[in-house]
Amino acid sequence: MKIAVYLRNRSLENDARYLGLIGKFTAGGCRVYEIRDDVPVEDDTDIFVSVGGDGTFLSSAVIVGNREIPVLGVNLGRLGFLSENTVYDVVDEVLAGKYSIEERTLLKADFGRTGSEELRSAYPYALNEITVHRAGPAMLGVDVAIDGNPLPTYWADGLLVATSSGSTAYSLSVGGPIVMPESKVLIVSPISPHNLNVRPLVVPDTSVISLSLRARDEKVFLTVDNRSLEVSTDLEMKISAAPFHLRRIRLAGANFIKALTTKLFWGEDIRNGR
Ligand code: NAP
Repeated sequence: MKIAVYLRNRSLENDARYLGLIGKFTAGGCRVYEIRDDVPVEDDTDIFVSVGGDGTFLSSAVIVGNREIPVLGVNLGRLGFLSENTVYDVVDEVLAGKYSIEERTLLKADFGRTGSEELRSAYPYALNEITVHRAGPAMLGVDVAIDGNPLPTYWADGLLVATSSGSTAYSLSVGGPIVMPESKVLIVSPISPHNLNVRPLVVPDTSVISLSLRARDEKVFLTVDNRSLEVSTDLEMKISAAPFHLRRIRLAGANFIKALTTKLFWGEDIRNGR
């Protein structure tokens, strides 16, 4: 089995847990190589191991791109929701084949002929979300249409479109619903809307979400997961599900509800005990 290992935080390269992980895969008969700036991912890789937190997992999605190599998240970081596994439980389970593969929806941003050259050449796929956010003092008007059907203009700091995977990330902070990862939906949510009567909207992941802005400032921030660009407010963007998935390895015994309770303390209540 050929295993690519990606450690974004190189200050951990001598960490005993990291070295132990590589050593155990190697001792198990795997051919292990480390992804670095000058070592790209090889197409015949069987498993891509992302070592770090969720930020590293998002970067791993960019490196793997559309190759559909299964990605296993190992947490050496902080929260580790996407990369929920510990170095101690992964090797034996992977070598014993005790895992399944989840097909996680990715978003694709399409700018048509609008936007700068820099914007149009940026990697347009997101695992968590795509956002537009004010870059100046003035509120944004965000015009959104779902499959050509316009919604009332949002007056807000910005707007995000999230996947099911992203429902536990930024979307959660703006009052979005938590969505089981296998749900084929997208979340459209204003960021700090100046209205009493708007709510996050859940749409099928077959939708095409068109977005344009009314703004007094000249620039807005566009973020695609953990990457951001300052772009002109005359941006016109269509967001839809990408034509490929992120294939995430789920070890036997791991599940979404367990991650919600152990990582985000879902339902933590003195009456529920520990
Ligand atoms: P960061 O601001 O350093 O960290 C964001 C936090 O969100 C980290 O604790 C990260 O986990 C966690 N996280 C990322 N994806 C998650 C997911 N799908 N489910 C649950 N938690 C998740 O930024 P970053 O590490 O570069 O990650 C970029 C992401 O941060 C963006 O995609 C966005 O979703 C999120 N973000 C959230 C807010 C907010 O909630 N107000 C604001 C900006 C960005 P780890 O600790 O394991 O890395």
